[in-house]
Amino acid sequence: MKHQARKRFGQHFLTDTGILTQLTGEIRPLPDDHMVEIGPGLGAMTAWILKHIKHLHVIEIDRDLAERLRTGQWKDRLTVHEMDVLNFDFATLPSPLRVVGNLPYNISSPILFALLPHVDRIVDQHFMLQKEVIDRMVAKPGTSDYGRLSVMLQAYYDMELLFDVPPESFSPPPRVMSAIVRMEPRSKAQRDEVPQTVFSKIVSAAFAQKRKMLRNNWADLVPAEIAEHAGVAMTARAEEVSCEQFIQIAKALQHTI
Ligand code: SAM
Repeated sequence: MKHQARKRFGQHFLTDTGILTQLTGEIRPLPDDHMVEIGPGLGAMTAWILKHIKHLHVIEIDRDLAERLRTGQWKDRLTVHEMDVLNFDFATLPSPLRVVGNLPYNISSPILFALLPHVDRIVDQHFMLQKEVIDRMVAKPGTSDYGRLSVMLQAYYDMELLFDVPPESFSPPPRVMSAIVRMEPRSKAQRDEVPQTVFSKIVSAAFAQKRKMLRNNWADLVPAEIAEHAGVAMTARAEEVSCEQFIQIAKALQHTI
């Protein structure tokens, strides 16, 4: 039976085999990899991945699509988790884990943040996202795309936009341009440098009002001498502060806030 795409679940199904070949070439799944796919839908990516891998975990919220996957041609090689990915506990999956998915665009940032606590167990993540979101993820300081998402993710991952995917590669076509991003966790030593709670607090505060100077956004939170020691003037704006500078400031503050 034909599936009617559900808008509320951000359903846009990949139909372009050229893109699927290119994507699988970038992911390079190996037979024994532990891999999970978020939002398999009708199984376009799933089928291509299963050409290479023995077994795959999938997380799908749509009851009808989950049922198709549970009973369809790949049923013996799939574990179907029928649930909202935002409630899924990635710690229950075997590691080291690879994560892939053509994500529902309306909740792509919450999914990226939900995966952050599991970064220690993750090998890599390949996602199809709205191109505009990937531009923000990989943005460098001093550019208009640079913001909280860039800093929070760059502290933990090396990220690369691999290629763009036009709307006509999907059915139904989304209104926006899409792209593929590769995210590889930075080394454990680099990740351990980041005092998570303080880091997240000062980054959120810095970008709370993007056009305001840091001395407004950081009032009562970051003393000027600590910012200046990291080479950051309180008259600067958050978009001028590099990820490394945010980390340095967070480290200096970690026992005080
Ligand atoms: N992977 C398929 C493809 O490329 O053709 C479908 C991609 S579609 C953009 C997003 C998929 O994520 C849909 O199958 C949708 O039902 C599923 N989805 C949406 N919200 C979800 C959620 N909160 N948890 C798990 N899956 C979700």
